[in-house]
Amino acid sequence: MKTEPIDQPGQDTSEAAVAQKSFAETALELGGKSADEARRTGAIDTADDQVESLFAAQYQTVNSPAHRAVWDRPLPVELFKSDEPQVPEDVRRVMDDSLEVVARHRRENTLLDENKKIPEAVLGDLANAGYWGLLVSKEYGGSGAKFAAFAPFLTQMAMYDPTVAGLASVHGCIGAVDPVRTFGNTEQKQRFLPDLASGRRLSAFALTEPWAGSDLTALRTRAELKNGQYIVNGEKLFITNVVPGRTIGLVCLIEDRPAVLIVDLPEQENDQFQLRKYGLWALKHTHNQGIIFRDFPVPAENLLTPPKGDGLTIAYHGLNLGRVSLCANAAGTMRLMMASMIPWAHFRRTYGEFISKRELVQRRLGALAGMIVSCDALVAWCAGLIDQGYRGEMECIVAKIFGSEMQKDAAVELFMKTHGGRSFLHGHMFGDNVHEFLAPCIYEGEGEMLGMAFFKSLVKSHGREYFEPIGKALQAAGIKKPNPLNPAHAWALKGALLNYGRWFLGQKLRTSAHVDFPGMPGQLQQHAQFAASRLQKMPLEISNTMSKHQLALADRQCRMAALSAKIQNLLTMLCTTLYAARHDDEVIHAAANVLCLDLTRQITGGHPSDRYFRAVNQLGSTVLDGGFKSVAGVDTGEILMSYQNQ
Ligand SMILES: Cc1cc2nc3c(=O)[nH]c(=O)nc-3n(C[C@H](O)[C@H](O)[C@H](O)COP(=O)(O)OP(=O)(O)OC[C@H]3O[C@@H](n4cnc5c(N)ncnc54)[C@H](O)[C@@H]3O)c2cc1C
Repeated sequence: MKTEPIDQPGQDTSEAAVAQKSFAETALELGGKSADEARRTGAIDTADDQVESLFAAQYQTVNSPAHRAVWDRPLPVELFKSDEPQVPEDVRRVMDDSLEVVARHRRENTLLDENKKIPEAVLGDLANAGYWGLLVSKEYGGSGAKFAAFAPFLTQMAMYDPTVAGLASVHGCIGAVDPVRTFGNTEQKQRFLPDLASGRRLSAFALTEPWAGSDLTALRTRAELKNGQYIVNGEKLFITNVVPGRTIGLVCLIEDRPAVLIVDLPEQENDQFQLRKYGLWALKHTHNQGIIFRDFPVPAENLLTPPKGDGLTIAYHGLNLGRVSLCANAAGTMRLMMASMIPWAHFRRTYGEFISKRELVQRRLGALAGMIVSCDALVAWCAGLIDQGYRGEMECIVAKIFGSEMQKDAAVELFMKTHGGRSFLHGHMFGDNVHEFLAPCIYEGEGEMLGMAFFKSLVKSHGREYFEPIGKALQAAGIKKPNPLNPAHAWALKGALLNYGRWFLGQKLRTSAHVDFPGMPGQLQQHAQFAASRLQKMPLEISNTMSKHQLALADRQCRMAALSAKIQNLLTMLCTTLYAARHDDEVIHAAANVLCLDLTRQITGGHPSDRYFRAVNQLGSTVLDGGFKSVAGVDTGEILMSYQNQ
């Protein structure tokens, strides 16, 4: 993040900005929403603006690749490319040692304890390998890995164990590490980071409450300053990796504004701190519990004070990294699915033939290869942007939604169906992990809610420039339903409409610019050009939607979600083709081609062609023959109910 140094705990310098109503609040008020709903939505929008203001202008949302691909000419192709990450030797060693720790515990059958949780011994061995300090700078005892190296490493780790990979993200991205390293002052960094890096204290992120999940304006946990300490009261829910002795980033209200306190939880539950236990199907190999605070004291100096914004600013920052990590984890988990489908398909014979020879099964393997390559592409792209200093909120949302949706689809449509009835046996990867495969669609923001957030970020600047003045002119003239044929209405709106009319005409007159992708293999080039030209047509489609629904657009959630999904798919295609093209591997090219054909059909509403079936079956057959190199050697256990010796 390219920001001014964040060192001194200081006043929020943007009080004026805070007092000013956000675009969302104004639009909702003008659209007739209740003052409460407008205020709540406005609070989130303001938090978003404040995160923005932490970034230098060229890295803010309007200058991000996703935003520019839609609104700018020419389309900035360079911003969609990613590079192979350079991993310094010492960082590589930490990564290799960490992988070896998990591999060894798997071999020795000690990766899970008797409660099927990752035991402290494994977490300790990972600590000794330096796993928990990967994202902490060397100054504080970590190895200072770039995010572009860390994120794809999580894919590797997920191929050994997805829960261990997930915990690195909980600790390093959304837990206490990112808030402290990004927003802590020097004293806070010195106090917290060494223990977080060494793994002496692992961390968690406590935002969700029984009342507040999707709606973060409904937070109720409060901290009150009394005699140099914050006294915390409230309840948190669904907190991953929380047990006594952890350090948490606690989002709570201080003087009615969201804030983040870094809290060292006591080594044991007591009257002031208790854990609420419940049965949870997902994340069953780690701990996920509620936390109840009753007059729980936290030193005043544990409050993080971002230079602008509040606790949500801090939460949003870490969530971006978490969302990319989630996609990386999905890429590893889907490789595990692939690695388990291949031997099974070569083993299972029906009607006198191995199912690996059947088109339906080959199609599943081919489609899975496309999903994996695309997740890899999104991870490389987003992580590179984060390292360059981009805010990356829109791009990280694309990665999160795509990764979680692909993992869900792969699990149910491809993995489960290929393994048939055995999927449901105890000990089968599908049956044992189905909730793990589904839950990422919900945590770190439910996908459709995030899709709407993506859309709002995309249209915010356009709305502010062209639609807010129209709304304000209508409000000033007391016009509820504008009628362009009414001269009084036309007069009241003349300035605002003229401005919009100029933009609209400019778009209409513009011939569609051809974007070149030199050196890209033919099929990939076609997909990239399709994506680029469709993206460049989106401004009119978006703006027409805004004109049609005007201030009621906030209630047209289905339309927003549909437009958002279309744009996300186009961005995914662009990023995937460029990623594939930089690899000298025809299987990766073929996988990107299949994925793009699938996404094109979703965008255009077409039916699968014979060309598509040929491509996907051929790819599936190659995968079944061991052509998808990154799953070679992955151990997925024995085939259940094998009848070999019968
Ligand atoms: C396995 C797991 C691990 C988790 N780990 C953590 C953690 O470590 N830390 C943490 O703080 N939280 C964690 N969470 C919480 C998670 O982030 C929330 O569950 C998630 O953000 C959704 O909140 P909710 O469950 O309260 O959904 P709700 O707010 O109850 O919403 C339910 C659904 O209603 C719909 N909906 C809600 N509002 C709207 C609207 N305005 N318009 C349209 N539709 C709407 C959405 O589809 C939404 O998914 C975890 C959750 C799970 C399941």
